[in-house]
Parts: sequence; structure tokens; C-alpha cells
Amino acid sequence: MIVAERKPLREITEMLQGKQRVLVVGCNTCVTICMAGGRKEVAVLASALRLAGIEHVGEETVERQCDLEFLDPLTKLGGYDCLLSTACGIGVQLLSDLFPNLPVYPALNTTFLGVNEDLGLWSERCQSCGDCVLDRTGGICPIARCSKSLLNGPCGGSQDGKCEVNGDVDCAWQLIYDRLEARGELDRLETIFLPKDWSHSRDGGPRRIRREDVAL
Ligand code: SF4
Ligand code: SF4
Repeated sequence: MIVAERKPLREITEMLQGKQRVLVVGCNTCVTICMAGGRKEVAVLASALRLAGIEHVGEETVERQCDLEFLDPLTKLGGYDCLLSTACGIGVQLLSDLFPNLPVYPALNTTFLGVNEDLGLWSERCQSCGDCVLDRTGGICPIARCSKSLLNGPCGGSQDGKCEVNGDVDCAWQLIYDRLEARGELDRLETIFLPKDWSHSRDGGPRRIRREDVAL
């Protein structure tokens, strides 16, 4: 899922300076699971904005803010000076496209693609590189989980299974080695990873996928 964190209230109120009719728009998907921008967080933020002196604060949470299909209910709402989105940056941009004459502000910092490891703990698992190598690394991503994003590791600083950059973090390449060893697949490490073709990741602007089999 996409993991995000709410911006500090002061930053949000600065964005909203001069606005007296604000619609806070939440999203029921990733940001609900990471407890940053779902219905509950929308209610908490709306209350804080009222206490901060904003005259009229509306609340609306859609199923998925990154999908036009779910944004229809918002087009029926009027009378707001601006929208404040508690979705990830994708949701904020889609709302901006849908309401080009209305300022749409981000209430969250979109942080990474990750998993919920424990109560209140999320960690990064994928950097959307566009050329997945998990088949060769035992299902552990060296791009997202190695501090240096090394494709051939570990580096010389790996010590007792920990990363030299941050001792609190497991060395991703140690994890990869251990998993492949347990599976009897260490031979996978005998092939050197060639430099990644990062054009799969960024090739002159935003990446796009067009599936002819599902296109009309
Ligand atoms: S190799 Fe690329 S696509 Fe695969 S998990 Fe890592 S960053 Fe994501
Ligand atoms: S110690 Fe491991 S995780 Fe840290 S930078 Fe080196 S190879 Fe990557």
C-alpha cells in the first residue's frame, strides 16, 4: 500500500490562510489503513481546523481518491473555497484535474510503498523501479531495502546482519543471502546483476501502462 503521514497542523493552516470554506476529502483505501487520511482522520483534522478558526469545514471520504469512478459524489458539492485532500499525492492531483478552478491542497506527505510491520509501524518495500528483480533476490527488494540500493551486495560495511548506514536496520543483502541459502538457491547470487535499465523507471516524464487487452 501507499504509506503517508499527515503534515503538521501549522503547515496545513498556513496553506489554508484566507480560506473560510474548506472541504476535507479523505480516502478509504491505503491512507485509511496507514491511519493518515481515512474517515476518522478527516474528522479529527476537520475539528482541528474548526478550532483554528475556519468558519465552515465540510467532510467527505471517497472509496478511492486515485480513481475518477469514485469521485462523482464530489462534483455535486459546491460552495467551498478549496479542497484539502488527505489522500496520497495521486489523489490530490486527480482532484486538481477534476476541479481545475479550485485550489486543492495536500494534507499528507506521501512517503513510500510499504507494509504494516507491527502496530503503528510501516516500512518501505518497493520503489516502483519498473523492472522487478524479486525472483532473483528471494523476494526481498534490494532497491528499497538496502540503504545504498545495491544490486550486487552486500557492501563491505555489512556487520552482524546489520546495515552500516543504519545499525537499526537489517542488511538487506544479508536477508537475501539467508533466504536463498535456506531455500538452497545460493547459486542465484552467482550471476552478477548488470546495471539496471532505469529507463523502465523514468523515461522522459511520467510512466504509463496501456493494456490493449482491457482498453476499449
Ligand atoms: S525490484 Fe523494483 S519493482 Fe521489484 S520490489 Fe524492488 S523496487 Fe519494487
Ligand atoms: S550494509 Fe547491507 S543494507 Fe546496508 S548498504 Fe551495505 S549492503 Fe546495503
